[in-house]
Amino acid sequence: MAEGGPPICQTQKDEIRNCLNQQLRKDDIWYLLDTKWYKQWKKYVGYDNWDSGNAGEESANPGPIDNSPLLKEDGTLQEHLSEDLDYHLLPKDAWNKLVSWYGIIQGQEAISRGVIEQGMFVKHCKVEVYLLELKLCENSNLDKTVARQFSRASTIAELEKRMKKEYNIPEEKEVRIWNRYMSNTYEHLSKMENTLQDSGLYPGQVIVIEQKNEDGTWPRPAKSSQGSASSYNNYQYEVGRGSATPGLCGLSNLGNTCFMNSALQCMSNVPSLTEYFLSGKWKEELNPDNPLGMRGEIAESYAELIQTMWCGKHLYSLPRAFKLSVGRFAPQFSGYQQQDSQELMAFLLDGLHEDLNRIKSKPYVELTDAGDRPDEVVAKEAWDNYLKRNDSVIIDTFHGLLKSTVQCPQCFKISVTFDPFCYLSLPLPIKKERLMNVTWVPLTPDEKPQAIKVTVPKTGCVGDLRKALSKIVDTPHEMMVVTDVYNHRFHKIFKEEDGLSHILERDVIYVYETSVKNTEDPNVVILPIYFREKGRAKPTNNYGGRDQLFGSPLLLPVKGKVTYDMLYDLLLVQMGRYIRLPESKEEWWKDEDKEDMEEDGEEGKNGGNNNTDKHINGGTEDEDDDDVDEDKKKDEKPVKPKRLFTFTAVNSYGSSELDQKFQDDGRPLKVTPRTYIAVDWHSAAKEKFYDENKALAVEEHESGRNKNPQKKQVIQLSDCLKLFTEAEKLSVQDPWYCPTCKKHQQATKKFDLWSLPNVLIIHLKRFSYNRYWRDKLDALVEFPVHDLNLQEYVINNKGVKSYYDLIAVSNHYGGLGGGHYTAYGLNKSSNEWYYFDDSSVSQSSEDQVVSKAAYVLVYQKRGFQSTLNQYITKPSSAPATETSGASDCGLTNGAASNGVEDSEDMDIN
Ligand SMILES: [Zn+2]
Repeated sequence: MAEGGPPICQTQKDEIRNCLNQQLRKDDIWYLLDTKWYKQWKKYVGYDNWDSGNAGEESANPGPIDNSPLLKEDGTLQEHLSEDLDYHLLPKDAWNKLVSWYGIIQGQEAISRGVIEQGMFVKHCKVEVYLLELKLCENSNLDKTVARQFSRASTIAELEKRMKKEYNIPEEKEVRIWNRYMSNTYEHLSKMENTLQDSGLYPGQVIVIEQKNEDGTWPRPAKSSQGSASSYNNYQYEVGRGSATPGLCGLSNLGNTCFMNSALQCMSNVPSLTEYFLSGKWKEELNPDNPLGMRGEIAESYAELIQTMWCGKHLYSLPRAFKLSVGRFAPQFSGYQQQDSQELMAFLLDGLHEDLNRIKSKPYVELTDAGDRPDEVVAKEAWDNYLKRNDSVIIDTFHGLLKSTVQCPQCFKISVTFDPFCYLSLPLPIKKERLMNVTWVPLTPDEKPQAIKVTVPKTGCVGDLRKALSKIVDTPHEMMVVTDVYNHRFHKIFKEEDGLSHILERDVIYVYETSVKNTEDPNVVILPIYFREKGRAKPTNNYGGRDQLFGSPLLLPVKGKVTYDMLYDLLLVQMGRYIRLPESKEEWWKDEDKEDMEEDGEEGKNGGNNNTDKHINGGTEDEDDDDVDEDKKKDEKPVKPKRLFTFTAVNSYGSSELDQKFQDDGRPLKVTPRTYIAVDWHSAAKEKFYDENKALAVEEHESGRNKNPQKKQVIQLSDCLKLFTEAEKLSVQDPWYCPTCKKHQQATKKFDLWSLPNVLIIHLKRFSYNRYWRDKLDALVEFPVHDLNLQEYVINNKGVKSYYDLIAVSNHYGGLGGGHYTAYGLNKSSNEWYYFDDSSVSQSSEDQVVSKAAYVLVYQKRGFQSTLNQYITKPSSAPATETSGASDCGLTNGAASNGVEDSEDMDIN
């Protein structure tokens, strides 16, 4: 610990700011710091200019570093924490400085993490906050797996080493490491120098270690099909047959590329597009000079991939060339790092469109206001204008027209526009309400606090929470104070207008009843009260002291002027439910003295001299507060303390004492609502008179018992469409500029479908992101496989009645920021459903494709297929070009007798 405490705020601020400029470098170590603590520190040193009002004030001192909100009971990191929201990342020197200035709370260790390189197209450095958890097992016992964590930057060689250790396999023993896919197919991980990330391993994946037999053979058969029921289950390795079915070509994972593979399989199963590429027609339409395009590279690499997938010779392929060309153009697309199959599909549609745009030079088109003209006219004009600049196979296939109507709430001006779309992003009708758990603390001392579940609007404010709670507990909402309690202290005392979105699911919310309707009432002061046990914790740093907070804090309304004595009595009443008062003759402090001596034995010896000195100096102990018990402790002839506890003014964090002393002289105490008071219990008194169980007892309100935790919702696709076409009031953050009122207005906006494309892509908005919420909606959305009729959502009445059938689905499994993508696709030749899971392809059935993993749906208009002839110049089963050299093919029929072994030669990078 630095002599004389940490440097002054300005210096701390400058030093840390300097450290934070540091770039992430591979293999460096960074540290996680709890955001709450970090914010408190920033406030204390006045880090941000707008928040420097309290800089240097002791009441803002954050005390020792405390990462407990980030940790589970066993000391491991909580799941699903997010940067900035939950933790900040600090480079080593910044962390070390903070630790030297503030110390770490007792018993906690630093949370350090390494920097790794990540990224599919562009490598960037990232702190690996969460390690990759794999399930390990032995080939001889596939049912017994153990979960172990690895850095994504560790190699297959390191994985093998750890598995040998795990299973007590001698180091020199020859083994093979297998990656077992969901569908029970196996990939040999043979490139020992590849990292786990390069090998495309994802969380939860099963890794198998196989030992060579004594006779030199391997237990695992070359044609591996463990546990497969269907003959197609291991399609990938069923070689030796006549030929592979065109289109049933898996795509190897090139390192976190399952989202790309999923998108590509969906696109590959759009018959018209695939025919277009197979027929070679794309070459005539290639537009490499389009400044908005990708120099034709996206179209070329996609064409090559489609050729490979549909030539009927490959069971799986490596989409490497495609990946490289996407990589060249992807950086300009923000959000692409999300690794989202829908985003990749949108990117691909756009890239293909511009690369294949039949318009070589785009004319300037002036936009005209819809005015009072009929929709038909305006829609046709919009579409014609669009086609003047955009004309491609993508437009022919995927583009429809959307009408949007905006109305000003003030002057009622209506603005209509028609915009082309190539996919519909549909919201899921999930309740915009949220069930919050709060603890209600009634003012009446003998009433137990209650655990209550309150339904509040997700986007509401603290005022809404109070009103909702008010109905449950029958107390005026004005007489409630909402707080965030954390580690026995008030982390935050909320204001009426604070947004509920700031309150996270795991925050502990206490709502206190107060005696007044108006907390600003000048006659009443609401005092925040913390409970401390004197001399309990061992000192850990300059600040922590030896006083440990315990129990739940209180908000105590105090009317008029109070003296020390009055406050003491008020607290005795308020704590009446869980404390007992000493009998008049009870000499409770005496027994405890001995115990205390024993407990603190070592301490007593070490600090013997000090204590004695102090004792002598402080001998006249009844003068005031805080040294009373200190003096008591080692006294042979204890004097009865005046009270069970004393008061100290502390900072809002409860971690350090303020200079302000409370005098027990019968005069009113100087207190304001910002005076945080620590009630310091003598250890002996706490042990005897404070009933911890009763103090912490919370009654469960019936709101918690009766309400089932949110029911599993089943949503119909039509519900999503209805919600999509519902009129919606624009938010304050996203207003519309009304040209008539000449100002921004919270207008009403409504979407309608005007015309639909031949192939309709529907994106289910399962992921929601904003500053405070990151969420994946896991609800099952039921959608028809056949006969999707969208007529009722299409307002253009002249539209011909049309039905849509499902042809592909992109699935997402798992949570945010991870998970796995696969696809279902309807093979255009066989008219059967298949499941594409990276390099593995298996047969599926129609009833399997509707699942809660469905994320992007691809529908085709009935009858559209018959118009395909325009592209077909040769029979589809015998495509125009055959790929030679098989450079990007994992497996060709003629080349290998054994798919598994062959994969060793695959160049995965
Ligand atoms: Zn207006």
